[in-house]
Amino acid sequence: MSELEGMKVCKRCKKVKFEEEMRQNGAVCKKCSLKGTSKSRFAYHLRKSYNGLTLEAYEEMFEKQEGVCASCKKPDINGRRLCVDYTVKLVGLLCGRCNIVVASARKNKDVMDYLAPLWIM
Ligand SMILES: [Zn+2]
Ligand SMILES: [Zn+2]
Repeated sequence: MSELEGMKVCKRCKKVKFEEEMRQNGAVCKKCSLKGTSKSRFAYHLRKSYNGLTLEAYEEMFEKQEGVCASCKKPDINGRRLCVDYTVKLVGLLCGRCNIVVASARKNKDVMDYLAPLWIM
């Protein structure tokens, strides 16, 4: 497939776009990239993945933690949104690194028995 001069095809919406409509060195157009980071999309993800968790609850927790990880007290190393630590309810927000540690710990009963007193379960 040959692309027309100055035109690109967005990988997400598959529409032909002018170069200036594309994100810089990106494969998606500005419209799609905006959509990808929109709040409603994130809210949808929260609701789907965490049993109806709302964006408001997330933001409330985010403010309570002053925007840093509940475990290491630092913002995410890659500048991403903090991950949700969720058991039967929202426990806290974690940076990418701590999230991996906690998620794997939750799968291991021995580790959890040891950690349980340290966490508000
Ligand atoms: Zn697009
Ligand atoms: Zn952390």
